[in-house]
Amino acid sequence: MVGYNMGHLASGTVEVVCGPMFSGKTEELIRRVRRAQIARQKVQIFKPTIDDRYHKSDVVSHSSLSVEAQPVTSSTEILANLYDSTRVVAIDEIQFFDEKIIPVIKKLARRGIRVICAGLDQDYKGSSFGPLPELLCMADRVDKIQAICTVCGAPASKTYRRNAEEMSDQVLVGESDHYEARCRGHWDDHEEDEDLLAFSHSLQSGETSHVSE
Ligand code: ADP
Ligand code: MG
Repeated sequence: MVGYNMGHLASGTVEVVCGPMFSGKTEELIRRVRRAQIARQKVQIFKPTIDDRYHKSDVVSHSSLSVEAQPVTSSTEILANLYDSTRVVAIDEIQFFDEKIIPVIKKLARRGIRVICAGLDQDYKGSSFGPLPELLCMADRVDKIQAICTVCGAPASKTYRRNAEEMSDQVLVGESDHYEARCRGHWDDHEEDEDLLAFSHSLQSGETSHVSE
């Protein structure tokens, strides 16, 4: 009898681990990779060349866990470097890949491969990052994890960039010198806070202009 989910008929899956910086995405990716290796599955790990913060060819977490990875300059390079025997593909910093990463991941899954992706869902402005929106939609499993707010210790879903007014590019590869994990309240722009405060005061005092029906 042909078993479900067995041998060459195994169906691939797409897993995404997302969240702000310092939330443990890389740790979680490494944990899943290590477990697959314990199960003696052939694993290949990729990362974009742009991310060489700690090591040119290792994926390294903020807590110094590391695993050997292949740096690639484009998403199609992942397919070019794939071995026939690979059962699991892990990709870190997925937000830095071009939009072709979506068809590449679909292709991997169609081949029966388990694809584990980790990356930032939002940039420091709170906008969605690169291919993440589509990736989250097509994934079989999504884990959105939180860091700890550096201001108050609450769970943090946002990445705050220091000196954001001086450097406003979406991509500025860096560490705690540039970025902090923050809860929504401590991430919001001071100006926006004031806007909101003024708005709620005007609501309370009935000063807002009402839309006529
Ligand atoms: P990510 O890949 O999401 O940026 P990592 O897996 O590299 O995160 O690192 C997570 C580790 O970062 C935590 O286990 C902890 O040791 C450390 N860390 C440093 N600052 C924070 C913070 N503000 N909140 C949570 N963890 C933090
Ligand atoms: Mg990481």
